[in-house]
Amino acid sequence: MMSNLQQLQERLAKRVCICLNKSFAQLTTIGCGGEIAIVAYPTTIRQFRLCLRWAKRLSVPHLVLGRGSNLLASDDKFLGLVICTTRLSKVRRFATTVWCQCGASTARIAKYCAARGLTGAEFWYCLPASVGGAVVMNAGCFGADTSSIVSRVYYLEGTRLCSISGRQCRFGKRTSLFKQSDKVVVAAKLRLGRGNSKAIRARCKAMMAKKRLTQPLGQKTFGSAFFNDSGTASRLIDQAGLKNFRIGDAKVSNLHAGFVINIDKATSFDIYLLLRHVQSQVYLRFGEILSLEVQTTGFFEETNDLGRLPHSH
Ligand SMILES: Cc1cc2nc3c(=O)[nH]c(=O)nc-3n(C[C@H](O)[C@H](O)[C@H](O)COP(=O)(O)OP(=O)(O)OC[C@H]3O[C@@H](n4cnc5c(N)ncnc54)[C@H](O)[C@@H]3O)c2cc1C
Repeated sequence: MMSNLQQLQERLAKRVCICLNKSFAQLTTIGCGGEIAIVAYPTTIRQFRLCLRWAKRLSVPHLVLGRGSNLLASDDKFLGLVICTTRLSKVRRFATTVWCQCGASTARIAKYCAARGLTGAEFWYCLPASVGGAVVMNAGCFGADTSSIVSRVYYLEGTRLCSISGRQCRFGKRTSLFKQSDKVVVAAKLRLGRGNSKAIRARCKAMMAKKRLTQPLGQKTFGSAFFNDSGTASRLIDQAGLKNFRIGDAKVSNLHAGFVINIDKATSFDIYLLLRHVQSQVYLRFGEILSLEVQTTGFFEETNDLGRLPHSH
């Protein structure tokens, strides 16, 4: 008898582009993580919906992935469906409103806006994110975050297409209503201002240049791995003497203590142990809780809650 996974593969293969030989190591910027049974690349919302519907109907675990720049997946094989959104990348503009599908790259949208004299999305130029991932995480830098430009979000709940205003998204520090929920972001509407293309482009480039000086951007990483309420995470990690601390090929960056990097062949478990070590050391030294900004999947405890760490009191 065919397993549910095989049935899903057979059903999807007729309607959606699928791959059976991918791993999280190939699909994430940290460059580690196990094989994936099925990866689907929907190109239309209809196909996206179909993937979700069949995964649910056959009770196959599924995960939506954007550009994989904020995800640590375990080394074990994922016996489920990863729905990769990168081919859902349409962009449309109406005056100062830009409508973009979830898989569009934020950097591309920033360039698109700059070319049309639309200002507000410059900080997106510096993020290696998809629009969906940026909405889910309320990604931001240089004092701006995604909530400041998103006026409406379209999402699938089950297979129902719904939409809510930016205000209803419950955006917070690196979080939103969509984080760890069943709601899947399919598109976002941006409200931007008018500006001078040349000046907007120059701002994008200046931000990127600043990032290059302070962050190890050419490396395998998922950006700042931690955050805390006071915004002091990387300073505390530095003060705890953890820069360059290494477990296997997983290392705390020398340039930016908030960044964990895979220097060559780190396993996800190396990275995971390093993240936990940093959290517990900072807690023991300064009594400060660092939450994990990076999302994890397939681990024993998928939690940001330092209270559950063995070292906490
Ligand atoms: C070099 C580097 C620099 C970075 N700098 C910054 C920075 O300055 N500021 C910042 O905030 N972040 C930064 N990040 C982190 C990262 O880019 C952001 O968190 C980004 O928003 C993640 O987007 P993604 O498309 O890669 O999401 P993914 O990593 O693919 O997914 C992240 C989470 O969102 C979920 N998800 C993705 N798409 C959808 C969707 N359509 N619907 C529902 N759930 C979805 C996934 O299941 C996962 O749980 C950086 C990362 C790197 C590698």
